[in-house]
Amino acid sequence: MLMADSRILFMQKNISIDRKNLFSKAKRVVIKVGSAVLTGAGEGLDQKRIEQLAGEISAIMDQGREVILVSSGAIAAGLAKLGMKKTKGMPLPLKQAAAAVGQSGLMWMYERTFGAHGRKVAQILLTREDLSNRVRFLNARNTLQVLLEHDVVPIINENDTVAVDEIKFGDNDNLSGMVVHLADADLLVILSDIDGLYTADPRLRPSAEFIPVVEKITAEMEKGAGDALSSIGTGGMRSKIMTAKKVGAYGVPMVIINGRKQGTLSGLFAGKEGGTIFLPKADRNRSRQHWIAYTACSNGGVVVDDGGRDALENKGKSLLPGGIVRVEGSFKAGDCVNCSDNRGNVFARGLTKYSSADLEKIRGMKTSQIASVLGHKDYDEVIHRDDLVIL
Ligand code: GLU
Repeated sequence: MLMADSRILFMQKNISIDRKNLFSKAKRVVIKVGSAVLTGAGEGLDQKRIEQLAGEISAIMDQGREVILVSSGAIAAGLAKLGMKKTKGMPLPLKQAAAAVGQSGLMWMYERTFGAHGRKVAQILLTREDLSNRVRFLNARNTLQVLLEHDVVPIINENDTVAVDEIKFGDNDNLSGMVVHLADADLLVILSDIDGLYTADPRLRPSAEFIPVVEKITAEMEKGAGDALSSIGTGGMRSKIMTAKKVGAYGVPMVIINGRKQGTLSGLFAGKEGGTIFLPKADRNRSRQHWIAYTACSNGGVVVDDGGRDALENKGKSLLPGGIVRVEGSFKAGDCVNCSDNRGNVFARGLTKYSSADLEKIRGMKTSQIASVLGHKDYDEVIHRDDLVIL
């Protein structure tokens, strides 16, 4: 579904990879399934497809894999039960109510279909706030670990009923990328309603070419990818590409593959052709750094002068008050904040040791002035090097 300059994409088309080796190594897999796969022609959940999915997931687990399922479908199922169709601009409270109606039906279907294969399931509903709080992130990680040790299939969805814009993942593609990090998984499979990535949207341009492997996500790809076309899902190709970038930075490959076709998962793990593979970066982020860069919410930020940017980016230094020219938004000590330059480019993210109110008073000053201005000085640096990630 890319509209970008196709030459940039074609350059990546002929990379040959050992698919079998890549996938057989994956022992802990996150599988994301979108609403468009789980619903038939928009009239609620497609029971046959869910049976098929549970069967295929069970089979790859029989091969010694752990699977975490990120499943959409609550809103679609709820709306169908309420006799409604999803429309653009539908009020948020109605979607939230539909999710509450649909989530139980969705889980009931998974209970039954996985139960038919002797497998247990567990429901986990998350908001972005849960993962951007480090303590809750670690708690959720421990719970997942225990579920996997007990051979349970965790089924995760966004807690739509309480999630408003500020605490939302946005869509389940993004959520699944964060779950990869949460669970320390080694592969992300996105089951979509199309075969993978194309040089253009194949539904609009029949001449579009398929891209089996993406080695590097370019700025053109990010800009060119389209938003969701289906009326039921929320993701679209752009959010999938952004998710691939995120998990790739964590050293994890991602595949987009057609979840409406039978045998998709078994074929994938047997090394058969199919889907678009996004290769990861070789130098992966450490877990805590990755959490700071991609999971912790940014409640605001600091604008840093060019000298400050250079010290952070090229000299491995911590951020001191002297380099800060402006404070944006409102945040507490310990929050994750963006560091941007004078031109508005966000180039780093880190955990601040001072609140926005304190920083307003000490920005531009020497560290020796902090105590006299604030009446206390706990730290010299605003963001310590260990709590900083260059993006
Ligand atoms: N959480 C939503 C649901 O269960 C889906 C969001 C998405 O598809 O990205 O309906």
